[in-house]
Amino acid sequence: MNGRITGRTRLAGIIGWPVEQSLSPVMHNAAYESAGFDCVYVPLPVADETDLIRVVGAIRVLPFVGFNVTMPYKQVMLDLCDEVAMLAQMAGAVNTVHCVDGRLIGYNTDGRGLVDSLKADVGFDPAGATVALVGAGGAAGAALVSLVLGKASRVTIVNRTRASAEALAERIRPHARETAVDVVVLDEDAGEVIAAADVVVNATPLGMKEGEPSPVPAQWMRSGQVVADMIYRAEPTPLVLAARSVGATAVDGLGMLVAQGATAMEIWAGESRGASSREVMRRAAEEELAMRAAKRGERS
Ligand code: NAP
Repeated sequence: MNGRITGRTRLAGIIGWPVEQSLSPVMHNAAYESAGFDCVYVPLPVADETDLIRVVGAIRVLPFVGFNVTMPYKQVMLDLCDEVAMLAQMAGAVNTVHCVDGRLIGYNTDGRGLVDSLKADVGFDPAGATVALVGAGGAAGAALVSLVLGKASRVTIVNRTRASAEALAERIRPHARETAVDVVVLDEDAGEVIAAADVVVNATPLGMKEGEPSPVPAQWMRSGQVVADMIYRAEPTPLVLAARSVGATAVDGLGMLVAQGATAMEIWAGESRGASSREVMRRAAEEELAMRAAKRGERS
């Protein structure tokens, strides 16, 4: 919570269902305090689309600088914005909204978050690389757009359901001049494609819940490969553990979360305040995750 809330303090927040577990409030509030940005970031739990329309209407007339959108509203938010940035249109999802004089401008910062995390956390630039992208939902769409813009040479979408992967590939191919985009079903046949890729990205929720397996078995990965999981927990995720067991360089989704949060802050508070907030956001998120893990430990 920011130290001093006055009559001029602005608002930001995260819309989703559920949002209790979101790290964004602790990350953003720590960053605002550190950067002297007079704003408070609050959770905005919204139960259904009827309520979403009401809440978005209220936000237009309240002093919001902007808000984030998480599951399950990233796709429907596209239609509730007055303007949508090209990247978010291509991704088919909005995760960040900028409020400007009552108008809502939609962005998607997830894809840039992934590419920024690959560069900052493991020194990997996707230019010229081959990528196995596991998943074909909203986060995979955002990642694919950024990988295409980042000039990856080939992205293979590896998904449980072929039809959703094909639909995503077809939507992005017209924009992908330097990147070949193809599709493989997530079964035994995917092993070869995944083993051959320079980087493997998990954009499924598999591994988030206690006891869930890695979306990619260890034997499909190898040393020399970079593996990025979009999910994160206090402890290493099943994918990160599996990747490290075969000598791959692995990173979880916390860096991506921090990078997308810092990009949202760049949009709302200006580039320099957003960029300089990365470390503060990461520290706040790591502390919160550690605190939650300690509480779980006390209870069990
Ligand atoms: P989504 O739109 O619901 O898509 C989920 C994708 O995962 C679909 O392709 C689905 O395949 C696949 N999938 C779901 N359960 C699966 C299972 N048991 N086995 C294999 N595949 C499965 O979700 P999303 O918005 O893209 O988010 C995906 C994950 O990324 C979530 O866990 C989210 O928290 C995470 N994420 C993290 C960040 C970050 O900043 N770190 C940002 C965005 C998202 P089908 O097509 O077959 O259903």
